[in-house]
Amino acid sequence: MKSSSLQAINTCNIKVNLSNNFRNIFYIAECDFGKGLFSKIDIRKEENIFNFTGKLITFKQTLEATDNFGDPLQIGKDLYINLEEPMRFINHSCNPNTGIINDVTLIALRDIQAGEELYFDYSTSIDEDYWVMQCMCGEANCRKTIKDFKYLPVQAKQKYLNLNIVQKFIAVQYQKIATNV
Ligand SMILES: [Zn+2]
Repeated sequence: MKSSSLQAINTCNIKVNLSNNFRNIFYIAECDFGKGLFSKIDIRKEENIFNFTGKLITFKQTLEATDNFGDPLQIGKDLYINLEEPMRFINHSCNPNTGIINDVTLIALRDIQAGEELYFDYSTSIDEDYWVMQCMCGEANCRKTIKDFKYLPVQAKQKYLNLNIVQKFIAVQYQKIATNV
């Protein structure tokens, strides 16, 4: 995790050349806090960037699948996508430039310039009471400790729900609450 400033990008070394059909669109660079996914092209606000793909696995399988528990993307109560490359390298930010709609489609939340790293807020996809991460994204609104959606400040919950970038199995819990009020 790191700040999304363009200046920081210059300190990153390109480590991985993508060999699939993403090679003209993205690159992966090693930065202060590990590998990150960067755009090679300008992306407009609300543009679809890609669909997350990978094998579907259960929570138990996520524990066996990888040492780095941040990799699988939760899409249901006990359902995860064991992400393929390069999408498994996308980092978290508390002030993200992308979000996930319809559980699997990454969209731009603002205009993104070529050379910028892509981030989404991991909490928009997590509801399992297991995963915790210390964040050093450097954003003014950094929450420091990143956990399930349910632990987000109310304003952040509302912002993400309004943008429709919360996984459906999580968002539905809050719609029920809203309609009961
Ligand atoms: Zn943060």
